[in-house]
Amino acid sequence: MFDYLIVGAGFAGSVLAERLARGSGKKVLLVDRRPHIGGNAFDHYDDAGILVHKYGPHIFHTNSREVFEYLSTFTAWRPYEHRVRASVDGQLVPIPINLDTINRLYGLSLTSMQVEDFFASVAEPRETVRTSEDVVVSRVGRELYEKFFRGYTRKQWGLDPSQLDSMVTARVPVRTNRDDRYFSDTYQAMPLRGYTRMFENMLDHENIKILLNTDYREVVDVIPHDRMIYSGPVDEFFDYRYGKLPYRSLKFEFQTVNQEWVQPVAVLNYPNEHLYTRVTEFKHLTGQEHPKSILVYEYPMAEGDPYYPVPRPENNELYKKYQALAEERSDVHFVGRLATYKYYNMDQVVAQALSVYARIVGQKRAEATRAEAARPSTPAVLAASRKERQHGPVASLSKALAAAGNQSA
Ligand code: FAD
Ligand code: UDP
Repeated sequence: MFDYLIVGAGFAGSVLAERLARGSGKKVLLVDRRPHIGGNAFDHYDDAGILVHKYGPHIFHTNSREVFEYLSTFTAWRPYEHRVRASVDGQLVPIPINLDTINRLYGLSLTSMQVEDFFASVAEPRETVRTSEDVVVSRVGRELYEKFFRGYTRKQWGLDPSQLDSMVTARVPVRTNRDDRYFSDTYQAMPLRGYTRMFENMLDHENIKILLNTDYREVVDVIPHDRMIYSGPVDEFFDYRYGKLPYRSLKFEFQTVNQEWVQPVAVLNYPNEHLYTRVTEFKHLTGQEHPKSILVYEYPMAEGDPYYPVPRPENNELYKKYQALAEERSDVHFVGRLATYKYYNMDQVVAQALSVYARIVGQKRAEATRAEAARPSTPAVLAASRKERQHGPVASLSKALAAAGNQSA
């Protein structure tokens, strides 16, 4: 008898499995239909021995100290600040648009104050900023919108920016200084040994059993359990009763090259050329040294694995109908990007899962998460991670605990 059947071993399912098992002593069965844990954040070593992200580049960034500290229980980090260039008018210029982008694009030498005036002179004021077009055009005007956002967005979503909620392009800021980092969050880092290793540490607990290559429907009626946590697509759970919720998919094309480096930065965006949107060179993210390199090209697709909820009013309305059904199911918690139809980053999914756990145990989130820090596994795993860096990998949490014990003995 399991206390919880958890569907999906991505961030949502794994955080809840970890908290319920380690924080509350619950017995958990974690099921995923893929052959691996980690969900879309899964990484692995390819044939050449280079660490790659199977489902596209995943860069960790957050402003939440709580989320960062929680994940630090399971991994050490490699400091990494993400940088992206966009291929526009034959140049590779910084995106988010910043002072250097404007100066290089137009052959100017404006100062920060002057570039603010420049934006003000080209911006098209909008009374209400509703769509992804409004956000950009009202800040930097139509020309920059067309150079950097319109083509990319049409490719990525199969929709015009005017058909998408403002939050989509609002993810990319505009700057008047020379800061060329993609994110400005307080914490920006990559798991030192990769995401999969972090998930392994998270899930290494005697109360957690993992069943891969298995759709939960194959086992839900035969394996006794008390309650359920579901992190798959919400419309699928309800057999598409109100019709399909649109999700955007991607095709990933990996290319191994016989040279050490190809790109000046981890990601190059192609708003106006090619069928792909961006190309990522993984070693920039992971810091791995290797004589070869590997790139991934992202081709947006209408069909395929559901990767992105599509934020626009009619989809949000349809989601609300599924949300109402979900709320009627008091035996099931719906968590994560697909189950709550939210364009969430990893840290937001972790925060959401920690909130659900806090609700389940009837505590404030900070308390429920901090309960972790009081437990012996925290210093042990961190110590093991330090030890790992000095002496090579420590395979599992139990070994990590033993290693940490030896260290202090
Ligand atoms: P998922 O990781 O999708 O996990 C859900 C799991 O449920 C899947 O493994 C699936 O196989 C399983 N499942 C579904 N249905 C069933 C079923 N019926 N039975 C059994 N198992 C089932 N976020 C960032 O913070 N930074 C980034 O740089 C970043 N880059 C991204 C790049 C791309 C290309 C994509 C697609 C996403 C990116 N994200 C990024 C977002 C990040 O991937 C998600 O926020 C996070 O992985 C969501 O976790 P989740 O657990 O909600 O869902
Ligand atoms: N975007 C764009 N041009 C760019 C980068 C982003 O038009 O060079 C838009 C596009 O609509 C994209 C959205 O901004 O889907 C969010 O970008 P982000 O890099 O956050 O996308 P993700 O990493 O989630 O795919």
